Amino acid sequence: MAAHKEPVLDIIVVGAGFAGLYLLYRLRTLGFQTLVIEAADGVGGTRYWNRYPGARCDVESMAYSYSFSESLEQDWVWTERYAAQPEILAYANHVTDRFGLRKDIRFNTWVARAVFTETDGLWTLTSDEELSFGARFVIMALGCLSAPHRPDIPGISEFAGECYHTGYWPHQEVDFSGKTVGVIGTGSSAVQAIPLIAEQAAHLSVFQRTPNFSIPAWNGPLDEESQRHWKNNYRTLRAKAKRTSSGILNMDSDHCAAELSPDEQLRELDRRWQHGGLIMWNAFNDIMTDPASNELAASFVRRKIREKVKDRKTADLLCPEDHPLGSKRLCVDTDYYETFNRKNVTLVDIRSHPIEKITAQGVQTSHDSYALDVIVLATGFDAMTGPMMKIDIRGRDGVSIERKWSDGPRTYLGIAIADFPNLFMVTGPGSPSVLSNVLLAIEQHVDWISDCLCHMRSTGFDIIEASPQAEDDWVIHVNDVANPTLYTHSDSWYMGANIPGKPRVFMPYVGGAANYRELCNEVSDQGYTGFTMSKSAATAPRNTVVSANEQQRIDSQTFSQPRRNSTS
Ligand code: NAP
Repeated sequence: MAAHKEPVLDIIVVGAGFAGLYLLYRLRTLGFQTLVIEAADGVGGTRYWNRYPGARCDVESMAYSYSFSESLEQDWVWTERYAAQPEILAYANHVTDRFGLRKDIRFNTWVARAVFTETDGLWTLTSDEELSFGARFVIMALGCLSAPHRPDIPGISEFAGECYHTGYWPHQEVDFSGKTVGVIGTGSSAVQAIPLIAEQAAHLSVFQRTPNFSIPAWNGPLDEESQRHWKNNYRTLRAKAKRTSSGILNMDSDHCAAELSPDEQLRELDRRWQHGGLIMWNAFNDIMTDPASNELAASFVRRKIREKVKDRKTADLLCPEDHPLGSKRLCVDTDYYETFNRKNVTLVDIRSHPIEKITAQGVQTSHDSYALDVIVLATGFDAMTGPMMKIDIRGRDGVSIERKWSDGPRTYLGIAIADFPNLFMVTGPGSPSVLSNVLLAIEQHVDWISDCLCHMRSTGFDIIEASPQAEDDWVIHVNDVANPTLYTHSDSWYMGANIPGKPRVFMPYVGGAANYRELCNEVSDQGYTGFTMSKSAATAPRNTVVSANEQQRIDSQTFSQPRRNSTS
């Protein structure tokens, strides 16, 4: 193994996205020697890589921001209701510089391997260039959607034109003007990119396998009044958001569909449509459990699509019929459906006539050939587990994460993994993450992990590990809450269904962000139930003050489980 280039640190964080940045800020403030390792040459994570035209957040800007610094909240000015990628990236850079974080980030370094050594209880991380870094703790802040999925379409490498993936977009502007363009995919990324590409391209063909439900963003400049409202009430609004199932205000509903008359149902759907964005997801509180309730919202959106799209056949093709609304991530758009009224845009149904191959000239389906200058792959990500599995992570006895997760992810709270001591994840599988306002989810995980590390420091432990029993129980619980829902009724990336060969397991925790927060707090309040804490053979001097009795008690301690019924 390569010798350590740097001294052994307290903590290495992998990833300088929003999670990594806040981790660095928080851990440094708490006095931990921390290094962040980042593959890119800049901060921002997902927002660094996803530079495609139209990329923006689908949670409103004022809420899609850190809450840890009141002065930051007050100083930063968002200009649009849903901020565009350059503005979000500027925000990430502002935070980095405002809090002096850059000096502790090592850029352009791809972590290829992370190995735990039992003899000294340390992690060794090795880069693809064989640089080695040692730390007591590793925190994977990899993001849930950071491993782009480039489909294995026959002939894809033969294409003679330009080919881009939305999740790995070039830094220089891509000029579509006068070009014949094909977009493969119709998920959130495509839905944002298509209207802007269509404005430039000579002709755009959209290759659609599965239509998605998309709700208008009604995006626009943020008016002074709503900014003032947020800035004057940030504490109250954040606290309120934390008590919701998604961390997003105005989303939860108090009514199941059957409690409302048909008029009231329609009014509620219309109110949410007029408000715009993700809140359509929860028009009724049984929308993700009762197919009839879900169908009310689904057919409402289909009617809207048919109102917008002039050509009947195209409108029919754009209407999702094969999955419940929200079981695939809702898209939030600006003029997506309207774009199909343009003369230079064609919707190609690759469900009926699949893509057979990509040739040097373009795309060939079972029905036709499409000559293209540019192909845009808006084909998504190997979500949630993909970023972890791209690193060769080895825990106790050399067990690999690949083997451990071969039948789907296994975690405790989406934060820790049995057999992988001193390794934490931010927004890992088994946590609400992608089903919630991810900024709030990140802050909650970072705060929880930081508190845990402080607890260990003050009690003299330097090894923490999720117990196999706690992990088993959590995996069962994650499945128990997901299985009765409609989330499991579609071939979504939540289910891993978009990646050939990936186990079909519902990966995020659907029990609600507020419940989840409470569960995590219960675990910590009760002395980190479900975790085993111990001392390594080579404990650092600051951690030595633990009595033998205390140590014996600690070493044998495997705590009982959190009460699972509080979330079901
Ligand atoms: P996605 O939702 O997984 O969509 C991928 C699209 O590519 C789907 O339409 C899929 O069709 C299609 N596809 C994949 N492989 C294909 C193949 N071999 N042949 C033909 N079509 C293929 O990916 P995404 O649009 O990048 O979005 C992923 C997630 O990122 C979103 O759900 C969201 O959470 C996040 N995101 C957020 C924003 C935002 O507004 N903040 C923007 C972009 C993305 P099938 O459905 O048939 O598989």
